[in-house]
Amino acid sequence: SIAVIGSLNMDIVNRVEKAPLPGQTIKALETSYVPGGKGANQAVAAARAGARVEMFGAVGADTYGEILLENLRSSRVGTESVLLKQDVGTGLAFITVDELGENSIIISPGANGKVETQDVQVEERQLLEPDIIILQNEIPYSTVAYALEYFGAKGKYIIYNPAPAFAPPENAFSRVGLLILNETEAAVLSGAETGTIEEVHSAAKILVDKGCREVIVTLGAKGLFYLNREGTTVYLPAFKVAVTDTTAAGDTFVGAYATAMVEGKPVQEALRFASAASALTVTRKGAQTSIPERLEIDAFLSQ
Ligand code: ADP
Repeated sequence: SIAVIGSLNMDIVNRVEKAPLPGQTIKALETSYVPGGKGANQAVAAARAGARVEMFGAVGADTYGEILLENLRSSRVGTESVLLKQDVGTGLAFITVDELGENSIIISPGANGKVETQDVQVEERQLLEPDIIILQNEIPYSTVAYALEYFGAKGKYIIYNPAPAFAPPENAFSRVGLLILNETEAAVLSGAETGTIEEVHSAAKILVDKGCREVIVTLGAKGLFYLNREGTTVYLPAFKVAVTDTTAAGDTFVGAYATAMVEGKPVQEALRFASAASALTVTRKGAQTSIPERLEIDAFLSQ
């Protein structure tokens, strides 16, 4: 099984003609409420791709939290380890999308900012032993660092998606099995340029040398670059699809790749599987609303 430790947000998305200037009041063309948060998105992606998944995180004691939990359950994600924090709201993301598709986002971490080290200890949560742990950066780094130590010491395979970009202390890398990050994050963590594929290769090499076993740099519409400790490299172009909204592309990739790993798929096949899942995500609107089911991924791959 897979344990995802991370954020849950309600995304409140306002579609507008033009984003408001300071002091201005404008009308939204349309407002939608979409379950999101990198942790929850990745958990949903892994579960819809076919894995058994348990979510670790927190919501506030409000209606948004209830909706997010119900939504996870309807995607077959276990929610017993999502805690209800008092005196704080559920995490919210206020997203403005203008007519050019340009985004501006305010994140209000709420309960995500209150996920503490003791919240991630599996023994007390009666979880079946997870094979893979997935972590991101939308909960306090002190908790991420603790989870790296705690699960690393247990010999668990840890997938770390350092998003939003934040360069962790050097000693974190040796606990990471697989680092999955986009070009911006790869630049921040390696301190190197990632503009060309050669630069991406060098940046990935720097990250492997810091101590993680495998690195995947996702390159948006260009695809991805894979490098492991043994020096094996893979460049896989993205599937060509009609793009509607790239929200949750990276999260779908992470979740689907973890599922492929749990199933024991070889690297090449796992990369193709996760690319197909995220290609489907970019053809649809929203975060968790856009994440495909296993049947859709298999159908896409066999067409
Ligand atoms: P993030 O959302 O974290 O920035 P990326 O934009 O790199 O991540 O996207 C992650 C993966 O999603 C890519 O490696 C690719 O497989 C897929 N993807 C993203 N954008 C597209 C696109 N325009 N067409 C097809 N696949 C895409």
